[in-house]
Amino acid sequence: MAQAQARKSVIREIRQLHARREPLNISAVKRNHPDLIERVYAVRPFWGWKRALEDAGLDYSKINSELLDYIDCKICGKDLGALSYHLVSQHQITPEEYRQEYPGAAIVCETIRAAISRRKQRHRPVLQRWEDIWSPEYVLDRMAELHRRKFPLNFDWSKEHESALADKAIRDFGSWDEALRRIGLDPARIRLFRPTWRGKSPWRHANKAAVIAELCRREKAKKAVSWKKIVREQFGPAFLLRATKLFGTWGAALDAAGLDPAGGAKSPWRRATKSAILEEIYRRRREGEPLRWKQVVSVQWGQSLVNRAARFFGSWNDALRAIGLNRRPVEANGRTRRKRRLYVRFVVERAHANRCAHRRSSAKRTDAPCLIMRARCSVLGTLHCERAVLNH
Ligand SMILES: [Zn+2]
Repeated sequence: MAQAQARKSVIREIRQLHARREPLNISAVKRNHPDLIERVYAVRPFWGWKRALEDAGLDYSKINSELLDYIDCKICGKDLGALSYHLVSQHQITPEEYRQEYPGAAIVCETIRAAISRRKQRHRPVLQRWEDIWSPEYVLDRMAELHRRKFPLNFDWSKEHESALADKAIRDFGSWDEALRRIGLDPARIRLFRPTWRGKSPWRHANKAAVIAELCRREKAKKAVSWKKIVREQFGPAFLLRATKLFGTWGAALDAAGLDPAGGAKSPWRRATKSAILEEIYRRRREGEPLRWKQVVSVQWGQSLVNRAARFFGSWNDALRAIGLNRRPVEANGRTRRKRRLYVRFVVERAHANRCAHRRSSAKRTDAPCLIMRARCSVLGTLHCERAVLNH
């Protein structure tokens, strides 16, 4: 009840200040009405200045903002843009000694601080900044806002995506965990947040040495160095992509690292001719070995065979088609057959509807081709397959 009363009185006060066109950014309010800020941050559960403004029907685009372009020396009271030179030349003390003497006192004025933090911001932040300069209050507000927008907010994530925020939180509150506690979050629970995979890959700008080092590390740690295993790991695809970009092929990257997972054996299909590939397909059919792409690539040298076939025929399925196999688009299981039946019915119905619609007016036909295309892609893959199904 008392908390609700406190909120109401703060909201009333904010509206009055806004009506008088007073600046309402955190640093200005801290300067002019320090008690108001204190009351806002004393409210539990955590409220914060940004939310207080929003609850008063305001936001950062509507309020006035004020930054001072001077700072007064606490020793002699002189106003200056920055104090470092003044302290050394006039009072013979270093900025560090000055800070020890007057804890929390700034050395440069707010406009310069704003310009510095703007210049330091190299990447676009995940959330646009709304305060020009950092303050402990803004740190808490920003953390609370990120949490509200469902960002993970564990320290690793913050360090990667919001490094300035992480640094300021530690500077102002001693630790990231303490800052989390200040906004009413439990650090132990925040740490359990699922990891994000959207972040930047560490392999984006890796060089050859880094790739080789990673391969050697994997070998030493007895971790998989096969393409198929790595591709499933976090940042695995990025690592493979970078390695093939730098070395030409994955095999060349392994060679460069002195690794040979196949123990010196070389694929028999590396330099196979077109007729040898066809011969192998015939042999597989004769002996009843699987011909589906998925089953072929899962055995040793299967990937190499498929790659070589794709080189001559465009794809594995095209190679099968070249010798009159695989007339059916997918070797269908029950689910695929059901899907296909549904699709055929759908196409026939649409064609009928189109014909009727065309007789009445041409206006209703617009979405049909797009729908059919989407269904075709999801069920059958290609136009060729579709024709095969419809003729069947
Ligand atoms: Zn002075």
